[in-house]
Amino acid sequence: MAGTETLEACFERITVNDENEEQYSSQTTAYHKSKGSLSTGMTLTSLSASTTTSTARLKLPLQKLPNTNTIKTANATVTKVTLPSQAAQHLRTEPRSSDDALALQQATHRSDPPLYTQPTLPKQFSLGMFEIGKPLGKGKFGRVYLARERSTGFVCALKVLHKSELAAGKVEKQVRREIEIQSNLAHPNILRLFAHFHDAKRIFLVLEFAGKGELYKHLRKAGRFDEGRAAGYIAQMAKALRYLHGKHVMHRDIKPENILVGLMGEIKISDFGWSVHAPNKRRNTMCGTLDYLPPEMIKPGSSENFYNEKVDLWSLGVLTYEFLVGEAPFEDTPVMTQRKIARGEFSVPGFVSPEAKDLIKRLLVLDPEKRISLDDVQKHPWIVKHCIKGERATMRESGGK
Ligand code: AMP
Repeated sequence: MAGTETLEACFERITVNDENEEQYSSQTTAYHKSKGSLSTGMTLTSLSASTTTSTARLKLPLQKLPNTNTIKTANATVTKVTLPSQAAQHLRTEPRSSDDALALQQATHRSDPPLYTQPTLPKQFSLGMFEIGKPLGKGKFGRVYLARERSTGFVCALKVLHKSELAAGKVEKQVRREIEIQSNLAHPNILRLFAHFHDAKRIFLVLEFAGKGELYKHLRKAGRFDEGRAAGYIAQMAKALRYLHGKHVMHRDIKPENILVGLMGEIKISDFGWSVHAPNKRRNTMCGTLDYLPPEMIKPGSSENFYNEKVDLWSLGVLTYEFLVGEAPFEDTPVMTQRKIARGEFSVPGFVSPEAKDLIKRLLVLDPEKRISLDDVQKHPWIVKHCIKGERATMRESGGK
């Protein structure tokens, strides 16, 4: 999103095409009637870009918003619009700061609530309850739009998944798992899934809006991050992973592409497609992306091919390296990458500080049990040296972008 663009502008003159016009049209008409009045604005034919069948276009009501609702994303001037992080507090107690997060996390450790308790949502959702704004991105199985719940002004990201595509890709189970896990997590550095609903052809995920987009793009733009910024991000990652592991959830696919950035520059782990709730802490499924895979996961068929949440520690090491160097430590041809990972072969360039190098070496340890713990990551000299400064630097550097 452009820095100077107002959030309000993102909801204007948006046209989204739908390939499910018939079924959707009847639903929307019903909504139309029940809602009564129509005002000017958005034309929504539906939520997909297919041009093969759809000719029908439906006018959906767009509530005229008072001018005071404008949000400047560049300097995060927020007036009278409920942002996801604020709205989340209506749903359940959510920490406001990292310290609160730590307190919540400690409390979570003490009581350790069951993972699959359904959160209390304020109401049932349906598509007609949302104004659809600009497209935020496209994934393998769906598109994501900026959206706003009409009655509350609740700003979110609406992810639209087509059931037929999920079935064709045989990922229904993965998506169900993603929904079950993510909807039960509440941490400032983990993307919230507030609710989900579906119609005959689509599943809609109501997600927290990460205003500064993908971390991967920030990294590619910067080439590499300076040590303060990298340490700030790694400290946030360590907090989020501690929270996840405390709930016996391993992410298994930590990489820059799966991390989003919030309006204040804070990171948000997303994409729980490969995550697993594993109370027995032993898994033996092959998954993930090669560059970030730990040695214990690249030995298919081996009787030792069991792993636990320490896989995320290895990936945290790869992430630390990539933040500081601009490329992953084992990047090579697939065969060579696999070989290097199995041997733990990597070299850290001289421009990386000795403290950062030390942390990387303590994370990229072949024996999962000998990897530094998340507790000790948070206390590591590199994090301690940069953390406060690093988190400030993170906010400052991403604040104007
Ligand atoms: P996904 O299908 O989850 O990979 O999402 C596709 C793209 O949409 C991502 O790469 C992001 O650029 C964007 N996106 C997804 N979720 C959000 C969100 N919650 N906030 C902002 N942008 C998002």
